[in-house]
Amino acid sequence: MTAPRPKDWIKGIAPYVPGRSTTADGRKVAKLSSNENPLGTSQHAEAAFAAGGANLSRYPDASAAALREAIAAKYGLDPARVIYGTGSDEILHLAAGAFAGVGDEVLFVRYGFAVYEIATRRVGATPVIAPDTDYATDVDALLAAVTPNTRVVFVANPNNPTGTYTPAAEIARLHAGLPADVLLVLDQAYAEYLGAADDDGGLALAVSAPNVLVTRTFSKIYGLAAERIGWGYASAEIIDALHRIRAPFNVTTAGQNAAIAAFADDDFVAGSRAHNDEWLAWFTAQVESLGNKGLRAVPSKANFLLVLFEGPLTAEAAYNGLMERGYITRWLPGQGLGHGLRITIGTEEETRGVADALRELAEAAG
Ligand SMILES: *Cc1c(COP(=O)(O)O)cnc(C)c1O
Repeated sequence: MTAPRPKDWIKGIAPYVPGRSTTADGRKVAKLSSNENPLGTSQHAEAAFAAGGANLSRYPDASAAALREAIAAKYGLDPARVIYGTGSDEILHLAAGAFAGVGDEVLFVRYGFAVYEIATRRVGATPVIAPDTDYATDVDALLAAVTPNTRVVFVANPNNPTGTYTPAAEIARLHAGLPADVLLVLDQAYAEYLGAADDDGGLALAVSAPNVLVTRTFSKIYGLAAERIGWGYASAEIIDALHRIRAPFNVTTAGQNAAIAAFADDDFVAGSRAHNDEWLAWFTAQVESLGNKGLRAVPSKANFLLVLFEGPLTAEAAYNGLMERGYITRWLPGQGLGHGLRITIGTEEETRGVADALRELAEAAG
């Protein structure tokens, strides 16, 4: 029997498991499983998206010129060095594809973003996992795992699924410790949730260092997850390599329009950040108050909280119990987090509701 045979390394990929959007019995209730913006999308972005529907027969602007200009103007960057992708996921894949292949190593942390492993294996490269320190990125462990074969290092900051944050000095130390021919990808999908004092210095590094790529997304605080738009910034040489393997019309017209409008709506972004600040702190305190029941909150600076279950209530039982009560969370046994649930900060009502449900489950378990 002959049939097309996928490459061996493709068969080694465990498919990405997205967050559920309905409960096991098909109800659609509170989706706290994908770190989306509970406040929705900027109205200006919705209007711009709708306008994009007027020109459906035409290809989008392949150079995304207006979007690149808007990004560059906001952050004082060179528009020629802005890359855009079908979600920042695509840019992560481009980075692995352009800089790693068979025989090369790609490095990331133990509880890293699931896409890093898929992007690595897709190109036949070997994933190398650095241990964490209490769920946080450990720069010394990453540096110790670098070998002559290391081509790319992926670091999310804040990290997903842990929510942990690596300060600027540590990011600088990581960069300084890497060989100059290793690409450091700083995935800043949650950067807009950080306070002004928490700039990790990634963009400044991408401006000045020849081996740093920063990625950002419109899927999280901007509330445009459905449209699949991300962007990145790096040296002209890195950007040139990424463009060579990018799909030609990878960001839709409506998506480009919506992203530009979303970017300009500072009030919506500030409101989303303030909402998250308030309810992340509140929810964290609720989980901490269940410490005597074995629940633990991993300190988060993102729009979600990783809750660990170290007492009678297991993460699996909590996941199922919350699901029955209409709260869909993310249980990640496939990522070595069988003992944790990642819970997105929802609306006030959702956040209060999931905290109450968690308390009820923890108290019933003993
Ligand atoms: C959500 C997320 C992304 C990107 O998502 P896109 O929708 O593809 O832009 C990238 N990295 C991390 C760590 C994320 O959590």
